[in-house]
Amino acid sequence: MSDAILRLTSISKYFGTVRAVDDVSLEVKPGEFFALLGPSGCGKTSLMRLIAGFEQADQGQVIIDGQDVSHLPAYRRQVNMMFQSYALFPHMSVERNIAFGLVQDGVSKAEIANRVSDILDLVQLSGLGHRKPQQLSGGQKQRVALARALVKRPRLLLLDEPLAALDRKLREETQFELMRIQRELGTSFMLVTHDQDEAMGMAQRMAVMRAGRIEQIGSPREIYDQPANDFVASFIGKVNFFEAQVSALAVGQTSLRLSNGAEITLASSAYALGQRLRLALRPEDVRVRTTRGAAEFGSGPSGFAALVQDSVFLGERQVLRLQLADGALIEAVHISTQGVAYERGMQVEVTLPPDRVRVLPA
Ligand code: ATP
Repeated sequence: MSDAILRLTSISKYFGTVRAVDDVSLEVKPGEFFALLGPSGCGKTSLMRLIAGFEQADQGQVIIDGQDVSHLPAYRRQVNMMFQSYALFPHMSVERNIAFGLVQDGVSKAEIANRVSDILDLVQLSGLGHRKPQQLSGGQKQRVALARALVKRPRLLLLDEPLAALDRKLREETQFELMRIQRELGTSFMLVTHDQDEAMGMAQRMAVMRAGRIEQIGSPREIYDQPANDFVASFIGKVNFFEAQVSALAVGQTSLRLSNGAEITLASSAYALGQRLRLALRPEDVRVRTTRGAAEFGSGPSGFAALVQDSVFLGERQVLRLQLADGALIEAVHISTQGVAYERGMQVEVTLPPDRVRVLPA
């Protein structure tokens, strides 16, 4: 027996010839905030609908709290789904919208009144219970939809792009709200999003999906620091790639020559002489400093020259686009506290810290 609230084993779903979900296995733990992240059309919503019971899988099992619910209808699963559109009843008050599922279940009036009042407190809408949805702001409607999904006390709440309809500022505030509510209730949340910042900011663990398949599962930090492949690395934030070849080996060390002529040495002996590798490095890990008088491109073991092609000022940070000797462009983030401001046309020296370099399958 597993202690997971949700366990998917080799789930696949076809729509005609489209394989929307392809052999997906994952677990969500009790009280966990889990995110499903991937580009549009990768199968996130289909997977949610399979978990909720709105679709049946062609293959694999959906196990909720130890019970195989693969063939149970949606209303018999201890799962609720909050829809992107909120799907509120326009003619019903906020209270009646929230109470709807409890009324259907035959819960007593007194119990309904208590639960609705508690949940309105939790989502900070007390006092607005008598309003109709059209008398609410977008953020307030979102809270009603959340309250309605939570009032039945599901073991797992599925949230399909819950912040998509909110403007940027409200989205950020609501992220914190969702995290607070999830913590207070201890309900497992599974959030679907195509926005990597949203997933990284809120989730304790996340799965990155592409074309129906899971590419990687891990904590946001694990996935950011150790992406399994090029797709994950690029999807989770910005990344620079470098082509390299193993040029020398020593005990516990591998020297690499990059395609721009620079050399770096990794503390690893996992590679063979002549082997071609692909390196990934986040812009914030690229070290940049000014070069005095170095007017020409060159390279050496300690660093290599680059030309600032563009710079974007973002308050505390400067994002630099740098051109290397071989014409390649990379991005670097410079924290603008040291009084150095980089401008287009400046020559700089770049170093790649070996301990921040990630080696990906070539
Ligand atoms: P988005 O972020 O744009 O909502 P998604 O990751 O949720 O995308 P899905 O909606 O799950 O992706 O779709 C996955 C694939 O399955 C797509 O190619 C889509 O066109 C297809 N698909 C989804 N539902 C159906 C359906 N009912 N009939 C046919 N094809 C479908």
